[in-house]
Amino acid sequence: MSDSQDCLFCKIIAGEIPSTKVYEDETTYAFKDINPKAKVHVLIVPRKHYANVAELAKADPAELAHIAEVAQSIADKEFHGAYRLIFNTGLDAGQTVFHVHAHVLTGEKLDE
Ligand code: 5GP
Ligand code: ZN
Repeated sequence: MSDSQDCLFCKIIAGEIPSTKVYEDETTYAFKDINPKAKVHVLIVPRKHYANVAELAKADPAELAHIAEVAQSIADKEFHGAYRLIFNTGLDAGQTVFHVHAHVLTGEKLDE
């Protein structure tokens, strides 16, 4: 598992790798997923590096709550407040980048 030194999303947050920004503030960055699984597919990340949602919840629960608020505001703008929020956690659940990220799927009616 990568630490912050060679973490893809730390590099995106630092602007070393380009991304399409959707939202940013002091603690949080949101950008379009490169391989969208819905009409609108945004990744929301804390600027600080945590490997997964459990680490984030333990270290900074307010930031986790903030990520939920940012997801809601994106969905309010894109699709009358309806969205799916996913945190893949662990290799066997499909986590490929070990910097915690919320997938926000919205912008269209989603399959069940
Ligand atoms: P995971 O599989 O870890 O839950 O999600 C990682 C997500 O990051 C995937 O949906 C993948 O498409 C996205 N991703 C991987 N590399 C990049 C990149 O360089 N730029 C952007 N914008 N998204 C990426
Ligand atoms: Zn990172």
